[in-house]
Amino acid sequence: MTLAFDPAALTLPAAHFIGGTFIDGPEEIAVTAPSSGQALRAIPCADAAMVDRAVETARAALASSGWGGLMPRDRLRAMHRWADLIEAEAAHLARLEAVASSRPVAQAVTGDVLVTAEQIRFFAEFADKEGGELVPTSDAQMGFISAHPYGVIGAITPWNFPLSMAAWKLGPALAAGNAVVLKPSEMTPYSTLRLAELSVQAGIPAGLINIVLGDGPTTGSAITGHPGIDKVSFTGSTRAGAQIMENIARTGIKPMTLELGGKSPMLVFADADLDLTADCLDRGITPNAGQFCVAGSRIIVDRRVAEELAEKLAARFARHAPAPTWAGEAGFSPIISERQLARIDSIVRAAVDQGAQILCGGERFDREGSFYRPTLIGGVDAQSPAIREEIFGPVATFQTFDTEEEALALAAHPTYGLAAGLFTRDLSRALRLTRALEAGTVWVNRYGRTRDHILPTGGWKASGIGKDLGREAYLANRRTKSVLIDL
Ligand code: NAD
Repeated sequence: MTLAFDPAALTLPAAHFIGGTFIDGPEEIAVTAPSSGQALRAIPCADAAMVDRAVETARAALASSGWGGLMPRDRLRAMHRWADLIEAEAAHLARLEAVASSRPVAQAVTGDVLVTAEQIRFFAEFADKEGGELVPTSDAQMGFISAHPYGVIGAITPWNFPLSMAAWKLGPALAAGNAVVLKPSEMTPYSTLRLAELSVQAGIPAGLINIVLGDGPTTGSAITGHPGIDKVSFTGSTRAGAQIMENIARTGIKPMTLELGGKSPMLVFADADLDLTADCLDRGITPNAGQFCVAGSRIIVDRRVAEELAEKLAARFARHAPAPTWAGEAGFSPIISERQLARIDSIVRAAVDQGAQILCGGERFDREGSFYRPTLIGGVDAQSPAIREEIFGPVATFQTFDTEEEALALAAHPTYGLAAGLFTRDLSRALRLTRALEAGTVWVNRYGRTRDHILPTGGWKASGIGKDLGREAYLANRRTKSVLIDL
């Protein structure tokens, strides 16, 4: 079966999903296909009253279904049934994912939809295995720590991997016994709506997952400032993360998890396998056209191998051929919007104006849609926005060093600390630098996650607070109570 599809022929859901029912609203926010620039179905923007309705519905569903107090294995079984339906509908979900986003449909099936199902299963398994804890006390007492769901989690997701990002929020929240009000990005709303609808078909009580559509300032703020939201779980830019912290401080303090931006360094030493390294660096910046939080956007290389590595990398970059996300064969991804493409290009131009050299790329593809060439920039000033700002595009800077100390100094970023990569055959150096690098994730002689969902992901410094994935993400969806009893 071919996965290719005609975007105009796809039926797109475009209404809030609250209490298991679609609720229409005026179609206020335009949605565009970045592969072609064509307009897709516009979506409504939930105001405070609509968010209020979703929060009340979530709370009522928690009470009527007793979800948080069910046999944990019953929660687990419902979530596995949900994952079964996601797998069964993989092609359709992948098309809903691909149509408005930068995800090629062929990759969306395996890399997004099936991984989403797997992550839901992964979190479901915690439901009946992770409990509280009996703590050491004297014989005169008994002390224990019990764990409880928060209640209603307010989740907000970005556009770059709509389904996976939703799974990272919904999976642990539901397994731990919570209900969720989730706002997907206004640029990529469709797949999340179908994901939620499938949860009800799988027997997860209606009202446990509610999707409100809208933008950040209106709908996002109404969620994070809502007194009925017990915890906020956000993935997106550091700028929006800061606005959310401010809103939470102003409207009533509540816990939050923030997964934010990055500017991840990739350190290459002279003893590294340069072909393997070039493959990894390519994989670190070209998938999804570099639009992912852990993109390896700062390549930092031992001067002795810099020229050879730049050539190998440029050859790999040149192989990427763009294709609309609805083509059957996976191609190089579009940039999510013309606005974002203009921003990427302006950062590249500014670097060149300051004396940087374009080693390859540096311009848009001459074709329909928002496609930008994989780009490598050398000779960049350390203060340049190309080094300091998250570009969120297929653009990597290329800096050189002479000593390990210099490499570490270049790797350190004043604000971000999401991920880092290391390429060397020297085990001692790898272990030493793994300790020294300020990042929530370090990869050695590889790039990127595997399907080891047990490894938490999240940033140090301004790259975030708390973790998604792993046991940590499950624990972050419960609150604990310390109990001490005199016997
Ligand atoms: P964004 O911050 O513009 O938007 C993310 C979401 O937040 C959207 O749903 C948006 O509508 C909403 N939003 C925006 N302002 C808000 C506000 N003031 N209050 C509440 N909600 C608000 O980010 P984006 O462009 O959609 O996504 C790209 C960013 O996400 C990048 O910075 C990337 O690094 C980051 N990201 C991080 C991770 C991670 O795990 N650390 C994963 C994926 C993406």
